[in-house]
Amino acid sequence: MALEIIVVPCRQDNYGYLLRDMETGAVASVDAPEEAALVAALEERGWGLDLILLTHHHEDHVDAVGPLRARYGAKVWGAAADAHRLPKLDRDLKEGDEAALGASVSRVIDVSGHTVGHIAYAFEGAVFTADSLMALGCGRLFEGTALQMWGSLSKLMALPKETLVYSGHNYGASNGRFALSIEPGNAALQDRVRRIAEADAAGAPICPVTLEEELATNPFLRATEESVKAAVGLSGADDAAVFAEVRRRKDVF
Ligand code: ZN
Ligand code: FE
Repeated sequence: MALEIIVVPCRQDNYGYLLRDMETGAVASVDAPEEAALVAALEERGWGLDLILLTHHHEDHVDAVGPLRARYGAKVWGAAADAHRLPKLDRDLKEGDEAALGASVSRVIDVSGHTVGHIAYAFEGAVFTADSLMALGCGRLFEGTALQMWGSLSKLMALPKETLVYSGHNYGASNGRFALSIEPGNAALQDRVRRIAEADAAGAPICPVTLEEELATNPFLRATEESVKAAVGLSGADDAAVFAEVRRRKDVF
């Protein structure tokens, strides 16, 4: 991959990401959760900041946009649909647009559900999903419908299996407990939950993981599996209905 990607733990449980295009040296931040942590990570490497790629309007993703823009002169890109409630955008994006960092090009995917107007950035081999597809989970439906989120997840599920998924938070431990309540016998899930506990104990990030591993372990993506349909009492139901039921169960877990 022509991108160097740094995981920057921010706030309580957010992940910030710094991307450096190795061909041109251009640097971007995906979202701007916390000024101090991101500035420290940039300074440690002697990097500037050319671009901030926003995923959605929530405060824990945009809080440091103003200070980072002021400090580094970074341009700010985000969803056209959210332009009215994001910090001022230098470029607004919609599904299918190409958002390039130097020679590294991402495709913008609308992943509405957690919020309406949430976007993901799919580079070759790495997708930044924030609060849509999350590590072993998916974002809560604050604005969109279950059907909308299922459509969004389905687009992400169609990416190449080896794609690394970089999501917005570490909710791994609680997501793991929930996932095991749906699929207690899933060996890949048991193994992943064990590795998340080890990472948490070591203070190491739980992202990224491959899409392939998400597909094998994430109960929201596994709404396609007959075993999961049966586990939530919906044998034979369509995938979107099963997803909606898994999401409903997580809301009250
Ligand atoms: Zn959010
Ligand atoms: Fe968030």
